[in-house]
Amino acid sequence: AETDSPPHVVILPSPGMGHLIPLIELAKRLVHQHNLSVTFIIPTDGSPSKAQRSVLGALPSTIHSVFLPPVILSDLPEDAKIETLISLTVARSLPSLRDALSSLVASGTRVVALVVDLFGTDAFDVAREFKASPYIFFPAPAMALSLFFYLPKLDEMVSCEYSEMQEPVEIPGCLPIHGGELLDPTRDRKNDAYKWLIYHTKRYRLAEGVMVNSFIDLERGALKALQEEGPGKPPVYPVGPLVNMGSNTSGVEGSECLKWLDDQPLGSVLFVSFGSGGTLSLDQIAELALGLEMSEQRFLWVARVPNDKVANATYFSVDNHKDPFDFLPKGFLDRTKGRGLVVPSWAPQAQVLSHGSTGGFLTHCGWNSTLESVVNGVPLIVWPLYAEQKMNAWMLTKDIKVALRPKASENGLFEREEIANVVRGLMEGEEGKRVRNRMKDLKDAAAGVLSEDGPSTKALSEVARKWKNHKCTQDCN
Ligand code: UDP
Repeated sequence: AETDSPPHVVILPSPGMGHLIPLIELAKRLVHQHNLSVTFIIPTDGSPSKAQRSVLGALPSTIHSVFLPPVILSDLPEDAKIETLISLTVARSLPSLRDALSSLVASGTRVVALVVDLFGTDAFDVAREFKASPYIFFPAPAMALSLFFYLPKLDEMVSCEYSEMQEPVEIPGCLPIHGGELLDPTRDRKNDAYKWLIYHTKRYRLAEGVMVNSFIDLERGALKALQEEGPGKPPVYPVGPLVNMGSNTSGVEGSECLKWLDDQPLGSVLFVSFGSGGTLSLDQIAELALGLEMSEQRFLWVARVPNDKVANATYFSVDNHKDPFDFLPKGFLDRTKGRGLVVPSWAPQAQVLSHGSTGGFLTHCGWNSTLESVVNGVPLIVWPLYAEQKMNAWMLTKDIKVALRPKASENGLFEREEIANVVRGLMEGEEGKRVRNRMKDLKDAAAGVLSEDGPSTKALSEVARKWKNHKCTQDCN
């Protein structure tokens, strides 16, 4: 009789808001459009952050979530990289994942698939034990996914650091890119983060399918290359853009800034935000503030406490008890009053980007931020900080051409004059007009691929159909 219970999908998000948020959109579609049931099983290294609790709290009651007991990472060196921390959080959660799956199955739930994201492939072994199909949801561009499949080969072919390569790297289906622009964990091949990356990219072939949060009009070349069949290569499904559309504004945290936006002219405000993890140095915060001031444009800036060591200081938790306003240049808030609004730590970004007053986005190029801008037709200024963001920035300016990019000075800082110029260029200049028009086209294309018989809708239906046909090969009793 258990075989009659509705097919159930377990989603295992690895730490990071940028992984959880698109997986929630995936879950909503699986439940509402495909009559699957979904449970989030969430590995963690501490108590859930405010941001995590707030997005999970807003889940429809049909989607369940459970936190696994926190793993201990205190044995790791202090400079362990984020990819190492994420991978070990998942690896050390496997025993409790096994327990959680056992109790689901014991209660009569028919688990047909286990979906992991970027660095969750260790959970595949547990999926197999439960006869659930292992799948990946890739919350980054198809370009990065194409690199992931290519990386084990590149690793064998190249012996130096990638940043020292003379020739550009030819990721299948993509414009050639300099080796120094590849994602962060490729920067130092001796670091554990790189070893984890290679480990996972090899295991990508063990997935039964890979969903990627992108769409054909955005990344035609990379997607075509990914969909070419090859030995041991799982099918790739472009199901994007799956993003929070910001349609629900009731009770969202930080809604004062939405009220402020209501009072600004149409398309006049530059939104400035560096994702969930992004932090700037004290000097860079000052230059950004003075640049925004010099530009004389309206802005809404999500400010964080500075960090002079790493650019992703708030990645694991955006909760911070210091006041970011203490680090702004003296008099800045007064001088920009009315024209600019600074909010601490976190803003309802999906709602901000869908607001009519927002006319540009200065972003760290996180892939969710990028897609949220695409679905709302908001052009970009790119300011990459970590993860695969340099690749994204490069693609958005050189290939897709929806973004302007400031130049850093010799000391590595973006200086106030440069920032002011680029901001004015986007909001008022000819180059701004060009990227804005291009972004509008992409917005229409995004709506098209997600329409009832659009290619992204069909790709997800195909995955759902496979899961529903999943044969219960285990002893279901
Ligand atoms: N986000 C938000 N408010 C903030 C910062 C981030 O709502 O103040 C959301 C944002 O809309 C996006 C996600 O957090 O959905 C960040 O994901 P992204 O891939 O852009 O960057 P990451 O944080 O993973 O670097």
